[in-house]
Amino acid sequence: MSEIRILIAKDAETDISSLQEILASEGYLCDVAFERDDIQQKAAHHNYALVFYLPPPPGRPPRGVWAFLKEYSRQVPVLFCAPADYTVQDYDLWLEAGMDHFLSLPVTKAQLLATIQAVLTEKNGVSPGGNETGNISFRLSGDREIDGITPVRLGHVVTSAFDNCAHHQQVLKKIYKKTHIIEEVLLSTSSVSHRTKERISREEELMAAIEKRQLEMYYQPIVSLSSGRITGFESLIRWKHPERGYVSPAEFIPLAEETGLILPIGLLAVEMTVAQLAGWNEGVRNHDPVSASVNLSTVQFINPKLADQIEEIVDAQKIEREYLRFEITESAIMADMESANIMLLKLKSKKHKLYMDDFGTGYSSLSYLRHFPVDVLKIDQSFVKWMGVDEESDTIVKTIIELAHNLRMEVVAEGIETEEHMRLLREMNCDYGQGYFFSKPVDALSATELLREEPVW
Ligand code: C2E
Ligand code: MG
Ligand code: MG
Repeated sequence: MSEIRILIAKDAETDISSLQEILASEGYLCDVAFERDDIQQKAAHHNYALVFYLPPPPGRPPRGVWAFLKEYSRQVPVLFCAPADYTVQDYDLWLEAGMDHFLSLPVTKAQLLATIQAVLTEKNGVSPGGNETGNISFRLSGDREIDGITPVRLGHVVTSAFDNCAHHQQVLKKIYKKTHIIEEVLLSTSSVSHRTKERISREEELMAAIEKRQLEMYYQPIVSLSSGRITGFESLIRWKHPERGYVSPAEFIPLAEETGLILPIGLLAVEMTVAQLAGWNEGVRNHDPVSASVNLSTVQFINPKLADQIEEIVDAQKIEREYLRFEITESAIMADMESANIMLLKLKSKKHKLYMDDFGTGYSSLSYLRHFPVDVLKIDQSFVKWMGVDEESDTIVKTIIELAHNLRMEVVAEGIETEEHMRLLREMNCDYGQGYFFSKPVDALSATELLREEPVW
Protein backbone atom coordinates (compact mmCIF):
# COMPACT_ATOMS: atom_id res chain seq x y z
CA MET A 1 0.00 0.00 0.00
CA SER A 2 1.34 3.46 -0.79
CA GLU A 3 1.79 5.61 2.30
CA ILE A 4 -1.38 7.19 3.58
CA ARG A 5 -1.01 9.63 6.42
CA ILE A 6 -3.87 10.38 8.77
CA LEU A 7 -4.12 13.10 11.38
CA ILE A 8 -6.11 12.66 14.57
CA ALA A 9 -7.06 16.10 15.87
CA LYS A 10 -8.48 16.22 19.38
CA ASP A 11 -10.85 18.67 21.02
CA ALA A 12 -11.80 16.00 23.58
CA GLU A 13 -10.09 13.54 25.86
CA THR A 14 -11.64 10.52 24.16
CA ASP A 15 -9.49 7.41 24.34
CA ILE A 16 -8.28 6.68 20.84
CA SER A 17 -5.81 3.88 21.48
CA SER A 18 -7.90 1.24 19.72
CA LEU A 19 -8.39 3.57 16.77
CA GLN A 20 -4.64 4.12 16.53
CA GLU A 21 -3.99 0.43 16.86
CA ILE A 22 -6.25 -0.49 13.96
CA LEU A 23 -4.90 2.28 11.76
CA ALA A 24 -1.33 1.19 12.46
CA SER A 25 -2.13 -2.47 11.85
CA GLU A 26 -3.48 -1.53 8.43
CA GLY A 27 -0.30 0.35 7.58
CA TYR A 28 -1.66 3.90 7.89
CA LEU A 29 0.76 6.51 9.24
CA CYS A 30 -0.86 8.37 12.06
CA ASP A 31 -0.17 11.67 13.88
CA VAL A 32 -2.03 13.07 16.86
CA ALA A 33 -2.45 16.76 17.61
CA PHE A 34 -4.24 18.62 20.43
CA GLU A 35 -3.81 22.28 19.69
CA ARG A 36 -4.46 24.55 16.82
CA ASP A 37 -0.82 25.59 16.38
CA ASP A 38 0.32 22.00 16.52
CA ILE A 39 -2.16 20.99 13.85
CA GLN A 40 -1.29 23.93 11.67
CA GLN A 41 2.37 23.01 11.81
CA LYS A 42 1.75 19.37 11.08
CA ALA A 43 -0.54 20.23 8.20
CA ALA A 44 2.15 22.44 6.72
CA HIS A 45 4.73 19.63 6.84
CA HIS A 46 2.72 16.60 5.86
CA ASN A 47 0.37 15.61 3.17
CA TYR A 48 -2.62 14.20 5.05
CA ALA A 49 -5.18 12.13 3.22
CA LEU A 50 -7.72 12.32 6.01
CA VAL A 51 -8.33 13.91 9.41
CA PHE A 52 -10.12 12.26 12.30
CA TYR A 53 -11.60 15.00 14.45
CA LEU A 54 -12.73 14.37 18.03
CA PRO A 55 -15.19 17.16 18.85
CA PRO A 56 -15.56 18.60 22.37
CA PRO A 57 -17.69 16.81 25.00
CA PRO A 58 -21.50 16.87 24.66
CA GLY A 59 -23.17 20.26 24.74
CA ARG A 60 -20.19 22.22 23.50
CA PRO A 61 -19.75 23.45 19.94
CA PRO A 62 -16.64 22.55 17.96
CA ARG A 63 -13.99 25.05 19.00
CA GLY A 64 -10.15 25.44 19.22
CA VAL A 65 -8.88 22.85 16.82
CA TRP A 66 -11.92 23.13 14.57
CA ALA A 67 -11.21 26.80 13.88
CA PHE A 68 -8.34 25.63 11.68
CA LEU A 69 -9.87 22.37 10.51
CA LYS A 70 -12.97 24.01 9.07
CA GLU A 71 -10.82 25.79 6.52
CA TYR A 72 -8.55 22.78 6.07
CA SER A 73 -11.55 20.55 5.34
CA ARG A 74 -11.84 22.23 1.94
CA GLN A 75 -8.68 20.36 0.95
CA VAL A 76 -8.70 17.29 3.16
CA PRO A 77 -11.79 15.38 4.32
CA VAL A 78 -12.47 15.57 8.03
CA LEU A 79 -14.26 12.74 9.77
CA PHE A 80 -16.04 13.62 13.03
CA CYS A 81 -15.52 10.77 15.53
CA ALA A 82 -17.50 10.65 18.72
CA PRO A 83 -18.71 8.15 21.29
CA ALA A 84 -22.33 7.13 21.10
CA ASP A 85 -23.57 9.25 24.00
CA TYR A 86 -23.95 12.44 22.04
CA THR A 87 -27.40 13.95 21.55
CA VAL A 88 -29.40 15.37 18.68
CA GLN A 89 -28.35 18.84 19.80
CA ASP A 90 -24.70 17.88 19.38
CA TYR A 91 -25.32 16.67 15.84
CA ASP A 92 -27.04 19.99 15.23
CA LEU A 93 -24.00 21.89 16.40
CA TRP A 94 -21.72 19.80 14.25
CA LEU A 95 -23.87 20.10 11.18
CA GLU A 96 -23.94 23.86 11.66
CA ALA A 97 -20.17 23.82 12.04
CA GLY A 98 -19.82 22.03 8.70
CA MET A 99 -19.62 18.31 9.50
CA ASP A 100 -20.03 16.08 6.52
CA HIS A 101 -18.58 12.77 7.64
CA PHE A 102 -19.26 11.06 10.88
CA LEU A 103 -18.10 7.93 12.60
CA SER A 104 -19.35 6.72 15.95
CA LEU A 105 -17.04 5.09 18.47
CA PRO A 106 -16.41 2.34 19.35
CA VAL A 107 -16.09 1.06 15.85
CA THR A 108 -15.36 -2.36 14.44
CA LYS A 109 -12.32 -2.75 12.28
CA ALA A 110 -14.47 -3.53 9.25
CA GLN A 111 -16.63 -0.43 9.77
CA LEU A 112 -13.60 1.78 10.26
CA LEU A 113 -11.86 0.58 7.14
CA ALA A 114 -15.04 0.81 5.08
CA THR A 115 -15.61 4.38 6.25
CA ILE A 116 -12.06 5.44 5.44
CA GLN A 117 -12.38 3.86 2.04
CA ALA A 118 -15.70 5.58 1.39
CA VAL A 119 -14.39 9.00 2.40
CA LEU A 120 -11.18 8.65 0.41
CA THR A 121 -13.06 7.42 -2.63
CA GLU A 122 -15.45 10.32 -2.46
CA LYS A 123 -12.55 12.74 -2.14
CA ASN A 124 -11.05 11.39 -5.32
CA GLY A 125 -14.26 12.07 -7.15
CA VAL A 126 -15.27 8.50 -7.74
CA SER A 127 -18.90 7.92 -7.01
CA PRO A 128 -19.39 4.52 -5.38
CA GLY A 129 -22.83 4.14 -6.90
CA GLY A 130 -21.37 4.14 -10.39
CA ASN A 131 -23.14 5.61 -13.39
CA GLU A 132 -26.40 4.14 -12.41
CA THR A 133 -27.20 6.88 -9.94
CA GLY A 134 -25.90 9.84 -11.88
CA ASN A 135 -23.93 12.86 -10.82
CA ILE A 136 -25.53 15.00 -8.20
CA SER A 137 -24.37 17.92 -6.18
CA PHE A 138 -26.04 18.96 -2.98
CA ARG A 139 -25.69 21.45 -0.22
CA LEU A 140 -24.88 19.93 3.11
CA SER A 141 -25.04 22.90 5.45
CA GLY A 142 -24.32 26.57 5.22
CA ASP A 143 -22.66 27.19 1.92
CA ARG A 144 -20.89 23.87 1.57
CA GLU A 145 -21.68 22.21 -1.66
CA ILE A 146 -20.62 18.71 -2.53
CA ASP A 147 -20.32 17.55 -6.08
CA GLY A 148 -20.50 14.12 -7.56
CA ILE A 149 -22.18 12.47 -4.62
CA THR A 150 -24.75 9.79 -5.20
CA PRO A 151 -27.91 9.15 -3.21
CA VAL A 152 -26.26 5.92 -2.11
CA ARG A 153 -23.30 7.77 -0.66
CA LEU A 154 -25.60 10.33 0.84
CA GLY A 155 -27.46 7.56 2.56
CA HIS A 156 -24.16 6.30 3.85
CA VAL A 157 -23.31 9.65 5.41
CA VAL A 158 -26.71 9.81 7.02
CA THR A 159 -26.62 6.21 8.18
CA SER A 160 -23.26 6.51 9.80
CA ALA A 161 -24.33 9.77 11.37
CA PHE A 162 -27.02 8.14 13.39
CA ASP A 163 -25.80 4.62 13.51
CA ASN A 164 -25.53 4.25 17.22
CA CYS A 165 -27.04 7.42 18.51
CA ALA A 166 -29.62 7.15 21.25
CA HIS A 167 -32.09 9.35 19.37
CA HIS A 168 -31.50 7.84 15.99
CA GLN A 169 -34.95 8.43 14.51
CA GLN A 170 -34.97 12.08 15.45
CA VAL A 171 -31.44 12.48 14.24
CA LEU A 172 -32.27 10.95 10.90
CA LYS A 173 -35.20 13.30 10.44
CA LYS A 174 -33.17 16.26 11.61
CA ILE A 175 -30.31 15.55 9.31
CA TYR A 176 -32.61 15.11 6.36
CA LYS A 177 -34.45 18.31 7.22
CA LYS A 178 -31.42 20.30 8.14
CA THR A 179 -29.48 19.46 5.06
CA HIS A 180 -32.56 19.80 2.86
CA ILE A 181 -31.11 16.87 1.03
CA ILE A 182 -34.21 16.28 -0.93
CA GLU A 183 -35.34 19.82 -1.66
CA GLU A 184 -31.90 21.11 -2.40
CA VAL A 185 -30.55 18.43 -4.64
CA LEU A 186 -29.10 20.35 -7.54
CA LEU A 187 -29.30 18.45 -10.75
CA SER A 188 -25.98 19.70 -11.97
CA THR A 189 -25.65 18.04 -15.34
CA SER A 190 -27.95 16.65 -17.95
CA SER A 191 -26.44 13.25 -17.26
CA VAL A 192 -28.68 12.85 -14.26
CA SER A 193 -30.86 10.00 -15.24
CA HIS A 194 -34.58 9.82 -14.93
CA ARG A 195 -33.98 6.89 -12.66
CA THR A 196 -32.09 9.04 -10.20
CA LYS A 197 -34.92 11.53 -9.92
CA GLU A 198 -37.39 8.74 -9.56
CA ARG A 199 -35.23 7.17 -6.92
CA ILE A 200 -35.05 10.36 -4.89
CA SER A 201 -38.79 10.74 -4.95
CA ARG A 202 -39.22 7.10 -3.91
CA GLU A 203 -36.88 7.68 -1.01
CA GLU A 204 -38.88 10.72 -0.01
CA GLU A 205 -42.07 8.72 -0.24
CA LEU A 206 -40.65 5.96 1.92
CA MET A 207 -39.66 8.48 4.58
CA ALA A 208 -43.22 9.79 4.57
CA ALA A 209 -44.52 6.22 4.81
CA ILE A 210 -42.58 5.73 8.03
CA GLU A 211 -43.98 8.92 9.47
CA LYS A 212 -47.54 8.17 8.43
CA ARG A 213 -47.24 4.64 9.72
CA GLN A 214 -48.14 3.09 6.38
CA LEU A 215 -45.99 0.09 7.21
CA GLU A 216 -47.71 -2.98 8.50
CA MET A 217 -46.68 -6.48 9.52
CA TYR A 218 -48.02 -9.62 7.89
CA TYR A 219 -47.58 -12.99 9.54
CA GLN A 220 -46.94 -16.35 7.93
CA PRO A 221 -47.39 -19.48 10.05
CA ILE A 222 -44.50 -21.77 10.85
CA VAL A 223 -45.84 -25.29 11.37
CA SER A 224 -44.34 -28.12 13.39
CA LEU A 225 -44.07 -31.05 10.99
CA SER A 226 -44.33 -33.55 13.83
CA SER A 227 -47.56 -32.21 15.34
CA GLY A 228 -48.92 -30.49 12.23
CA ARG A 229 -49.75 -27.41 14.33
CA ILE A 230 -48.75 -23.75 14.16
CA THR A 231 -45.93 -22.96 16.58
CA GLY A 232 -45.08 -19.47 15.42
CA PHE A 233 -45.05 -16.91 12.63
CA GLU A 234 -42.54 -15.15 10.47
CA SER A 235 -43.15 -11.44 10.60
CA LEU A 236 -43.03 -9.88 7.11
CA ILE A 237 -43.31 -6.20 6.44
CA ARG A 238 -45.73 -4.63 3.94
CA TRP A 239 -46.07 -1.07 2.72
CA LYS A 240 -49.69 -0.11 2.47
CA HIS A 241 -49.35 2.48 -0.25
CA PRO A 242 -52.33 4.83 -0.67
CA GLU A 243 -52.28 4.49 -4.49
CA ARG A 244 -50.28 1.43 -5.32
CA GLY A 245 -51.80 -0.89 -2.73
CA TYR A 246 -49.50 -3.30 -0.95
CA VAL A 247 -45.89 -2.84 -2.01
CA SER A 248 -43.67 -5.89 -1.60
CA PRO A 249 -40.66 -5.68 0.72
CA ALA A 250 -38.53 -7.03 -2.14
CA GLU A 251 -39.20 -3.67 -3.78
CA PHE A 252 -38.54 -1.24 -0.95
CA ILE A 253 -36.19 -3.03 1.48
CA PRO A 254 -33.16 -2.67 -0.84
CA LEU A 255 -33.81 1.09 -1.12
CA ALA A 256 -34.28 1.30 2.65
CA GLU A 257 -30.98 -0.50 3.14
CA GLU A 258 -29.06 1.77 0.80
CA THR A 259 -30.42 4.93 2.39
CA GLY A 260 -30.25 3.90 6.02
CA LEU A 261 -34.03 4.11 6.35
CA ILE A 262 -33.94 0.43 7.24
CA LEU A 263 -32.90 1.47 10.75
CA PRO A 264 -36.18 3.17 11.71
CA ILE A 265 -38.13 0.67 9.58
CA GLY A 266 -36.43 -2.25 11.28
CA LEU A 267 -37.28 -0.91 14.72
CA LEU A 268 -40.87 -0.36 13.67
CA ALA A 269 -41.01 -3.99 12.55
CA VAL A 270 -39.76 -5.11 15.96
CA GLU A 271 -42.21 -2.81 17.75
CA MET A 272 -45.22 -4.04 15.80
CA THR A 273 -44.23 -7.68 16.16
CA VAL A 274 -43.63 -7.38 19.88
CA ALA A 275 -47.01 -5.70 20.39
CA GLN A 276 -48.64 -8.52 18.42
CA LEU A 277 -46.80 -11.21 20.38
CA ALA A 278 -47.92 -9.60 23.62
CA GLY A 279 -51.51 -9.77 22.38
CA TRP A 280 -51.23 -13.40 21.30
CA ASN A 281 -49.44 -14.73 24.35
CA GLU A 282 -51.12 -12.75 27.09
CA GLY A 283 -53.28 -15.11 29.07
CA VAL A 284 -52.96 -17.70 26.30
CA ARG A 285 -56.00 -19.95 26.38
CA ASN A 286 -56.83 -21.42 23.01
CA HIS A 287 -53.32 -22.22 21.93
CA ASP A 288 -49.77 -22.78 23.19
CA PRO A 289 -47.55 -19.67 23.35
CA VAL A 290 -46.41 -18.72 19.86
CA SER A 291 -43.17 -17.20 18.62
CA ALA A 292 -42.58 -14.61 15.92
CA SER A 293 -39.40 -14.03 13.96
CA VAL A 294 -38.37 -10.66 12.56
CA ASN A 295 -35.98 -10.25 9.63
CA LEU A 296 -32.86 -8.17 10.19
CA SER A 297 -30.67 -6.60 7.50
CA THR A 298 -26.90 -6.21 7.60
CA VAL A 299 -27.18 -2.45 8.04
CA GLN A 300 -29.15 -3.03 11.23
CA PHE A 301 -26.81 -5.71 12.33
CA ILE A 302 -23.67 -3.61 12.31
CA ASN A 303 -25.35 -0.97 14.44
CA PRO A 304 -23.89 -1.67 17.90
CA LYS A 305 -26.98 -0.21 19.59
CA LEU A 306 -29.36 -2.68 17.99
CA ALA A 307 -29.50 -5.12 20.91
CA ASP A 308 -30.21 -2.34 23.43
CA GLN A 309 -32.85 -0.80 21.22
CA ILE A 310 -34.56 -4.17 20.91
CA GLU A 311 -34.37 -4.72 24.64
CA GLU A 312 -36.03 -1.38 25.29
CA ILE A 313 -38.95 -2.32 23.03
CA VAL A 314 -39.28 -5.78 24.55
CA ASP A 315 -39.16 -4.48 28.12
CA ALA A 316 -41.91 -1.99 27.41
CA GLN A 317 -44.27 -4.83 26.44
CA LYS A 318 -43.08 -7.41 28.94
CA ILE A 319 -43.09 -10.36 26.58
CA GLU A 320 -41.05 -13.52 27.12
CA ARG A 321 -37.91 -12.95 25.12
CA GLU A 322 -37.58 -16.49 23.89
CA TYR A 323 -40.69 -15.95 21.74
CA LEU A 324 -39.16 -13.03 19.88
CA ARG A 325 -36.74 -14.39 17.31
CA PHE A 326 -34.60 -12.96 14.60
CA GLU A 327 -33.79 -14.03 11.07
CA ILE A 328 -30.61 -13.03 9.35
CA THR A 329 -29.42 -14.28 6.01
CA GLU A 330 -26.13 -16.05 5.71
CA SER A 331 -24.89 -13.47 3.20
CA ALA A 332 -25.57 -10.72 5.76
CA ILE A 333 -23.49 -12.62 8.30
CA MET A 334 -20.70 -13.11 5.80
CA ALA A 335 -20.70 -9.41 4.88
CA ASP A 336 -19.25 -8.49 8.27
CA MET A 337 -18.55 -11.61 10.28
CA GLU A 338 -16.97 -9.83 13.20
CA SER A 339 -19.85 -7.43 13.87
CA ALA A 340 -22.37 -10.16 13.07
CA ASN A 341 -20.92 -12.51 15.61
CA ILE A 342 -20.86 -9.86 18.34
CA MET A 343 -24.49 -8.98 17.61
CA LEU A 344 -25.61 -12.61 17.45
CA LEU A 345 -24.00 -13.26 20.82
CA LYS A 346 -25.64 -10.17 22.32
CA LEU A 347 -29.10 -11.18 21.12
CA LYS A 348 -28.49 -14.75 22.16
CA SER A 349 -27.44 -13.68 25.65
CA LYS A 350 -30.84 -12.00 25.93
CA LYS A 351 -32.53 -15.32 25.17
CA HIS A 352 -33.68 -14.56 21.64
CA LYS A 353 -33.49 -17.47 19.23
CA LEU A 354 -31.70 -16.91 15.96
CA TYR A 355 -32.58 -18.23 12.51
CA MET A 356 -30.23 -18.33 9.59
CA ASP A 357 -32.43 -17.36 6.67
CA ASP A 358 -32.25 -18.47 3.02
CA PHE A 359 -29.70 -21.11 3.91
CA GLY A 360 -27.92 -22.59 0.92
CA THR A 361 -28.02 -19.49 -1.28
CA GLY A 362 -24.99 -17.61 0.04
CA TYR A 363 -21.44 -18.73 0.50
CA SER A 364 -22.29 -21.47 2.93
CA SER A 365 -18.91 -22.11 4.37
CA LEU A 366 -19.48 -25.02 6.65
CA SER A 367 -16.52 -24.18 8.83
CA TYR A 368 -18.03 -20.91 10.03
CA LEU A 369 -21.42 -22.43 10.72
CA ARG A 370 -20.36 -24.02 13.96
CA HIS A 371 -18.89 -20.72 15.21
CA PHE A 372 -22.10 -18.73 14.94
CA PRO A 373 -24.64 -19.08 17.72
CA VAL A 374 -27.51 -19.87 15.37
CA ASP A 375 -30.38 -22.08 16.61
CA VAL A 376 -32.28 -22.76 13.42
CA LEU A 377 -31.48 -23.08 9.72
CA LYS A 378 -34.14 -22.04 7.25
CA ILE A 379 -33.72 -23.97 4.02
CA ASP A 380 -34.21 -21.62 1.11
CA GLN A 381 -37.38 -22.06 -0.90
CA SER A 382 -35.45 -22.52 -4.14
CA PHE A 383 -34.50 -26.04 -2.99
CA VAL A 384 -37.88 -26.96 -1.54
CA LYS A 385 -39.65 -25.87 -4.71
CA TRP A 386 -38.10 -28.70 -6.77
CA MET A 387 -38.52 -31.45 -4.21
CA GLY A 388 -40.13 -34.53 -5.66
CA VAL A 389 -39.27 -33.33 -9.16
CA ASP A 390 -35.54 -33.00 -9.11
CA GLU A 391 -33.52 -35.61 -7.22
CA GLU A 392 -30.62 -33.26 -6.56
CA SER A 393 -32.87 -30.84 -4.68
CA ASP A 394 -34.07 -33.75 -2.54
CA THR A 395 -30.48 -34.66 -1.77
CA ILE A 396 -29.52 -31.08 -0.92
CA VAL A 397 -32.49 -30.64 1.42
CA LYS A 398 -31.81 -33.99 3.09
CA THR A 399 -28.15 -33.09 3.55
CA ILE A 400 -28.94 -29.69 5.06
CA ILE A 401 -31.37 -31.28 7.53
CA GLU A 402 -28.78 -33.86 8.60
CA LEU A 403 -26.07 -31.23 8.87
CA ALA A 404 -28.28 -29.02 11.05
CA HIS A 405 -29.25 -31.88 13.32
CA ASN A 406 -25.62 -32.95 13.69
CA LEU A 407 -24.82 -29.40 14.77
CA ARG A 408 -27.80 -29.48 17.18
CA MET A 409 -29.77 -26.97 15.20
CA GLU A 410 -33.38 -27.19 14.12
CA VAL A 411 -34.60 -26.76 10.57
CA VAL A 412 -37.44 -24.85 8.95
CA ALA A 413 -38.17 -25.58 5.29
CA GLU A 414 -39.38 -22.46 3.48
CA GLY A 415 -41.64 -22.36 0.44
CA ILE A 416 -43.69 -25.52 1.00
CA GLU A 417 -46.33 -25.32 -1.69
CA THR A 418 -47.70 -28.85 -1.99
CA GLU A 419 -48.72 -31.78 0.14
CA GLU A 420 -45.95 -33.77 -1.56
CA HIS A 421 -43.33 -31.27 -0.30
CA MET A 422 -44.67 -31.67 3.22
CA ARG A 423 -44.70 -35.46 2.98
CA LEU A 424 -41.11 -35.65 1.74
CA LEU A 425 -39.91 -33.21 4.39
CA ARG A 426 -41.62 -35.23 7.12
CA GLU A 427 -39.83 -38.33 5.86
CA MET A 428 -36.55 -36.45 6.12
CA ASN A 429 -37.30 -35.47 9.74
CA CYS A 430 -37.47 -31.78 8.99
CA ASP A 431 -38.66 -30.01 12.16
CA TYR A 432 -40.79 -27.16 10.80
CA GLY A 433 -42.34 -25.97 7.58
CA GLN A 434 -43.55 -22.68 6.15
CA GLY A 435 -45.16 -21.92 2.81
CA TYR A 436 -48.26 -21.23 0.78
CA PHE A 437 -49.45 -24.81 1.33
CA PHE A 438 -50.20 -23.90 4.95
CA SER A 439 -50.96 -20.22 4.48
CA LYS A 440 -49.74 -17.12 2.68
CA PRO A 441 -48.57 -14.27 4.91
CA VAL A 442 -51.75 -12.71 6.36
CA ASP A 443 -52.62 -9.63 8.39
CA ALA A 444 -52.69 -9.69 12.18
CA LEU A 445 -56.43 -10.27 12.36
CA SER A 446 -56.37 -13.31 10.08
CA ALA A 447 -53.29 -14.68 11.85
CA THR A 448 -55.15 -14.45 15.16
CA GLU A 449 -58.09 -16.19 13.54
CA LEU A 450 -55.79 -19.01 12.38
CA LEU A 451 -54.49 -19.43 15.93
CA ARG A 452 -58.05 -19.73 17.25
CA GLU A 453 -59.01 -22.28 14.63
CA GLU A 454 -55.98 -24.44 15.50
CA PRO A 455 -55.71 -26.15 12.11
CA VAL A 456 -53.78 -29.44 11.96
CA TRP A 457 -51.94 -30.47 8.80
P1 C2E B 1 -37.69 -14.08 3.59
O1 C2E B 1 -37.31 -13.64 4.94
O2 C2E B 1 -36.95 -15.25 3.04
O3 C2E B 1 -39.24 -14.35 3.64
C1 C2E B 1 -39.90 -15.36 2.93
C2 C2E B 1 -40.54 -14.84 1.68
O4 C2E B 1 -41.04 -15.93 0.94
C3 C2E B 1 -41.74 -13.94 1.94
O5 C2E B 1 -41.78 -12.96 0.90
C4 C2E B 1 -42.90 -14.91 1.81
O6 C2E B 1 -44.12 -14.29 1.47
C5 C2E B 1 -42.41 -15.78 0.68
N1 C2E B 1 -43.03 -17.11 0.72
C6 C2E B 1 -43.47 -17.78 1.79
N2 C2E B 1 -43.97 -18.99 1.44
C7 C2E B 1 -43.84 -19.09 0.10
C8 C2E B 1 -44.18 -20.11 -0.86
O7 C2E B 1 -44.70 -21.16 -0.54
N3 C2E B 1 -43.87 -19.86 -2.16
C9 C2E B 1 -43.28 -18.69 -2.56
N4 C2E B 1 -43.02 -18.52 -3.85
N5 C2E B 1 -42.95 -17.69 -1.68
C10 C2E B 1 -43.23 -17.91 -0.36
P2 C2E B 1 -41.99 -11.43 1.21
O8 C2E B 1 -42.95 -11.24 2.34
O9 C2E B 1 -42.28 -10.78 -0.10
O10 C2E B 1 -40.56 -10.97 1.73
C11 C2E B 1 -39.45 -10.99 0.90
C12 C2E B 1 -38.19 -10.72 1.68
O11 C2E B 1 -38.17 -9.38 2.16
C13 C2E B 1 -38.04 -11.60 2.91
O12 C2E B 1 -37.53 -12.85 2.55
C14 C2E B 1 -37.05 -10.78 3.71
O13 C2E B 1 -35.74 -11.01 3.27
C15 C2E B 1 -37.44 -9.36 3.35
N6 C2E B 1 -38.25 -8.79 4.45
C16 C2E B 1 -39.56 -8.93 4.70
N7 C2E B 1 -39.92 -8.26 5.80
C17 C2E B 1 -38.80 -7.68 6.28
C18 C2E B 1 -38.50 -6.84 7.41
O14 C2E B 1 -39.35 -6.52 8.26
N8 C2E B 1 -37.21 -6.44 7.58
C19 C2E B 1 -36.23 -6.81 6.69
N9 C2E B 1 -34.99 -6.38 6.91
N10 C2E B 1 -36.47 -7.58 5.63
C20 C2E B 1 -37.73 -8.01 5.41
MG1 MG C 1 -37.02 -14.46 6.62
MG1 MG D 1 -36.11 -16.83 3.63
